[in-house]
Amino acid sequence: MKVAVIGGGINGVMTAWAFARRGDSVDLFEKGRLMSATSHSSSKMLHGGLRYLEHGHLRLVREALQERSWWIRQAPEFARPLELLIPIYRNGERAKWLVGAGIRLYDLLAIGSGFPRGRWYSADEVVERFPGLKRDELLGAYGYWDARMDDYRLGLWAAERAGESGARLHEFTAVLKVHPATGEVALDGSSARYDRIVNVAGPWAETLLARSGVASAYRLDLIRGSHIVVPGKLEHGCVLQVPGEKRILFVLPHGENTLLGTTEVSQADPDHCLPSDEEIDYLTTNYNRCFFEVVARQDIISSFAGIRPIVASKTDFSAASRESVIERQGRLINVFGGKWTTSRALAEAVVTKSQY
Ligand SMILES: Cc1cc2nc3c(=O)[nH]c(=O)nc-3n(C[C@H](O)[C@H](O)[C@H](O)COP(=O)(O)OP(=O)(O)OC[C@H]3O[C@@H](n4cnc5c(N)ncnc54)[C@H](O)[C@@H]3O)c2cc1C
Repeated sequence: MKVAVIGGGINGVMTAWAFARRGDSVDLFEKGRLMSATSHSSSKMLHGGLRYLEHGHLRLVREALQERSWWIRQAPEFARPLELLIPIYRNGERAKWLVGAGIRLYDLLAIGSGFPRGRWYSADEVVERFPGLKRDELLGAYGYWDARMDDYRLGLWAAERAGESGARLHEFTAVLKVHPATGEVALDGSSARYDRIVNVAGPWAETLLARSGVASAYRLDLIRGSHIVVPGKLEHGCVLQVPGEKRILFVLPHGENTLLGTTEVSQADPDHCLPSDEEIDYLTTNYNRCFFEVVARQDIISSFAGIRPIVASKTDFSAASRESVIERQGRLINVFGGKWTTSRALAEAVVTKSQY
């Protein structure tokens, strides 16, 4: 089968690799450099997503928990287990029992993944690990395990595997239009026909469809998430609960520094994605609320933002905010949403969807 994959983020790379492994003839088209968009702007966690448990997404969490281990087994040089602590305060956003129940469920869903189990830490033990953490009203913390990755280098590692399996990876090659019925893919100055076209253009997936005059049953809400890098080397991660919100703030090891993220802000245009001043204030304010060593604007080493496409059905409102959707339209397969961690599983599902 001749397959065109549009998008060189992690979902495109893994899809190209999955088809190439089967012996299909694969062209991947990326308008810029591989791994230069959302997939390089993540929180760099290979994780099940503890927060998804609150929404009852057990299947998704279980799949992601198992997928973490696959990445670590395949490329341990770019991914390693990380313990994260969730400090629990008297009158905090979530009760101690609720967080504890979440950790126990997370551990149950992770059975077979080879990760250590979560546990409770006293306030003294927490402060030993995070000497800068304020102690007022601190009861202790739940520790749990996920994994940290170098999203850029791990993605390029996967691209190399796709290339070795025979996929042709074309950087700086934008796809202008696709035709679901004929399988035609139009580039600047040329076009070719394919048996299957996979539109895995991340936040740009809808733009490509609009330019091609193709209507989809889904629409994407584009939500920007920003991070800042600040000084300070960490051994553990920390998950802070944001007061008055259901959101959390990651405080994560980032080489010799610390990564703080993330935010959720609507963005109309997927291009020109940068953290706003308000987002930077939000991140520093919530960090400074919990830590003694105050982070000021001039301390920020770097910042970056990425866009999460949130999938909503145009007709079925109960399908709003689905993690990912694969839509088949003739020879065209649209992939909307998805997590970095589960990109391998998503790619396998795309291959299955292409089979009839
Ligand atoms: C702030 C934030 C934090 C996140 N943190 C995590 C995390 O810690 N762990 C996790 O598992 N997931 C995380 N995610 C989710 C994860 O990053 C994404 O699900 C994943 O990177 C999406 O990959 P993608 O390949 O679909 O999209 P992208 O990486 O955006 O790739 C799409 C590619 O398509 C290309 N493209 C677009 N249009 C065209 C065209 N017409 N022709 C050719 N190429 C085109 C673009 O240039 C781009 O490179 C996070 C997301 C965000 C926004």
